[in-house]
Amino acid sequence: MYQVNEVFQTIQGEGRYTGTPAIFVRLQGCPVGCSWCDTKHTWTLDPELAITPDQLLAKRGDSPSWTGITPAALLALFRQQGYQARHVVITGGEPCMFDLTSLCQTLHAAGYSTQIETSGTFEIKAPPDTWVTVSPKLNMPGGYPVLPSALKRADEIKHPVAMQKHVDELVALLDLHQLNDKLVYLQPISQQKRATELAIASCIKHNWRLSVQVHKYLGIE
Ligand code: SF4
Repeated sequence: MYQVNEVFQTIQGEGRYTGTPAIFVRLQGCPVGCSWCDTKHTWTLDPELAITPDQLLAKRGDSPSWTGITPAALLALFRQQGYQARHVVITGGEPCMFDLTSLCQTLHAAGYSTQIETSGTFEIKAPPDTWVTVSPKLNMPGGYPVLPSALKRADEIKHPVAMQKHVDELVALLDLHQLNDKLVYLQPISQQKRATELAIASCIKHNWRLSVQVHKYLGIE
């Protein structure tokens, strides 16, 4: 059983898979506590807020309600909704609080590719062919360190930036763990002009890539 907050189909707007039609599965629960988190409604798992899969599909807007669902039932739900995307993004919350092996394996067997978006603060349990995006959340109030094993497993590292210190902390992290050959995406926070200029200059300097949250420019989820 996986506790799911939200399922929807859209276009992946970030990182390597930008532009790819994708089904997003947002899992419930996260103890990391980032102050700027835009999915705070996923933080806690309140048993009083359990709903059915049909209610999940009907819900609108951010809500802490969730449903418990098996991988097979999730696949059935995709089919019921007539989703056409073949790529599934498992996000949160912090999805790596769960062992994602069985979910990803079920999706792979049904012809989907999978991607996990994680803060890197939990051990990543997923098949080798799942694409792992680590957005390292350093020194957050929850007190969870970013795990070297998560950074090592990452297929891409995606880092939001607003000011130079965010770039510097990423450089220090990559140096510390000798990860300078990783695929890195810098993501300007909230489409701010200064953040975007900083991200462009830093990408050019370090040979990183730019991720601009295409979905926000398009005004889609
Ligand atoms: Fe929010 Fe992600 Fe930080 Fe958790 S790790 S608090 S979901 S931004």
